[in-house]
Amino acid sequence: MKLLEYEGKDVFARYGIPMQKRAGIVKIGESLDTLKLDGPGPWVVKAQVLAGGRGKAGGVKLAKTAAEARELTGKMLGMQMITHQTGGKPLTVEEVLVDEACDIAREIYISVVLDRKNSTPMIVASAEGGMSIEELAQTQPEKIIKLPVDVEAGLLDFQARQLAFDLNIPQKNFREFTAFARQLVRVFIDEDASLVEVNPLVITGDARLIALDSKIITDDNALFRHKAQAAKPDHEASEIEKEAKEIGINYIGLDGDIGCMVNGAGLAMATLDTVKMAGGDAANFLDVGGGANVDQITRAFQIILKDAKVKAVLVNIFGGIMKCDNIASGVVEASKKVKINVPLIVRLEGTNVKEGREILARSGIKIEQAGSLWEAAQKAVKAAR
Ligand code: ADP
Ligand code: MG
Repeated sequence: MKLLEYEGKDVFARYGIPMQKRAGIVKIGESLDTLKLDGPGPWVVKAQVLAGGRGKAGGVKLAKTAAEARELTGKMLGMQMITHQTGGKPLTVEEVLVDEACDIAREIYISVVLDRKNSTPMIVASAEGGMSIEELAQTQPEKIIKLPVDVEAGLLDFQARQLAFDLNIPQKNFREFTAFARQLVRVFIDEDASLVEVNPLVITGDARLIALDSKIITDDNALFRHKAQAAKPDHEASEIEKEAKEIGINYIGLDGDIGCMVNGAGLAMATLDTVKMAGGDAANFLDVGGGANVDQITRAFQIILKDAKVKAVLVNIFGGIMKCDNIASGVVEASKKVKINVPLIVRLEGTNVKEGREILARSGIKIEQAGSLWEAAQKAVKAAR
């Protein structure tokens, strides 16, 4: 799950990471009067969208006066924003964060990522902050510092000091920085994150060290350990994805037009690959789970068919613990409850497959059966066309 900047900063606050004072957050439709703009200013008005590069896209604005801060906030709410990270698609600004502005003397890049190769967290940092790290990796890879971290011990003191030297942290901010770096690693480990990024970490004109931006991505599979986080909205999930989550179906929307209903994540992945090999594109990843019953199958059909892009539905179910005849009855029952107005291709395999196929054949429902996954994928691609 990706956290918005202010949500990430709320996490940082719990770890004592130094940040600028917040004037407030305003959501679409809310009053601008809740902003606490009683200080001398200036303020920075920031669009809360799940994409970096907001600065260049007009999503970070400086306001010299309180009136200007309110005006800019009002203008930013509801704005459509395209940054280099949104893949050409605009994002609607639904929330705006207003922070006190600071006088920036230096910008530093620092993040903690998961190093899959070494199975450890890794700090990635650069003294050249502010600019895009992807760009820096391309043009000046030697300026990127990489430091593996022990997941049990966290960042060790000597490592934090080494990092401070490598980043040329001024003497005055040295202790502040090493404490900050250790806390950043703690956030990564304790919050089960896959990314914690501060870009930029700044040193201000009056020599303070401040995390000016935050980007946190947490691992959904560890959400059960973070009740408060789990209760928060997933900003990236579509309405269909949210509904699927509520009823316990693993669903991820994709761009294609073949709706897939599969049991088991591995089989679902294989189905997506096979559809692709057959020249088509799946509209979703959907895993009904191991113990799919009529209810689950009915709900899965409802979810798949909510996506207007779907031109054919491919059901690929392996009857292991569940028997194929039960699954077939489930599909028949479900198709009575849900109006399936696109071609339906079913491939069953496993225990009692013969009985299962007979149930489908005798049901009178327009179902095209396939003997193999490859055949099913080809039929689905053809039907969708
Ligand atoms: P993004 O990464 O999406 O572009 P940032 O939060 O990093 O958004 O902001 C972009 C730039 O705006 C920063 O690099 C910094 O120069 C400036 N900026 C952001 N917040 C503040 C702030 N509170 N005070 C002063 N400048 C800021
Ligand atoms: Mg940034």
